Amino acid sequence: MRLDKFISTYTQLTRSQAKKDLKKGLIRVNGIVQTDSKFKVNLSDDQVQYQGEKIIVKDNFYYILNKPKGVVTANSDKLYRTVMDLIAKEDFRDDLFAVGRLDKDTTGILIITNNGKFAHNILAPNKHVSKTYQALVTGEITKEETLLFKQGITLKDGTKLKPAELVIESYDEIKDVSNVKIVISEGKYHQIKRMFGALGQRVLELHRLKIGELTLPSTLKSGEYQEVDVATLEKYF
Ligand code: URA
Repeated sequence: MRLDKFISTYTQLTRSQAKKDLKKGLIRVNGIVQTDSKFKVNLSDDQVQYQGEKIIVKDNFYYILNKPKGVVTANSDKLYRTVMDLIAKEDFRDDLFAVGRLDKDTTGILIITNNGKFAHNILAPNKHVSKTYQALVTGEITKEETLLFKQGITLKDGTKLKPAELVIESYDEIKDVSNVKIVISEGKYHQIKRMFGALGQRVLELHRLKIGELTLPSTLKSGEYQEVDVATLEKYF
């Protein structure tokens, strides 16, 4: 691989920044300063350093995004902005995709990666990775409804769902809305909205707080993302 391409692939630098820094003598290959952008790096043998720091060669990338409202979980869309549009140019790669899907009006934690096996492990029904949501729903949620969730709701189309946890956090009498937390262990299309629909209620706001034990970092503002390494991620699943 060309040295400038190598640098832009495995660091946060763009290709043109890489070329400039090469000219400045900031890159060493096997200890020797290399200024030629076209120099061919051998991925298995060569050690490349940027300002004295070894550049780690990695194939897989993982980002945690705080999905905002109004963007769709897709790689491209004719009408709307997508979660991929939130990824900065220097981090973007064609093979990135979102692990699972949040509706356009749902906010919260979404993992973006290029590792299909990792995604499969989170999404596969037999892995039972839970998802925790905060929701604002119409009406007053009752104890009986939390029990129905516990037993497994049957959707309007007859689909029987696995047991889920529903915790009532507060009820606003004036607005007649409830604030609840829900933990589900499967990921059917519009699942939370359909679960409340089966009870005759409507979801007004939906925010995903956790995937497994991985919590949306409080430092990530809406629309922001951060890179995480696989070792950190694997602790949570
Ligand atoms: N359930 C829904 O209804 N929508 C989401 O975006 C996620 C879970």
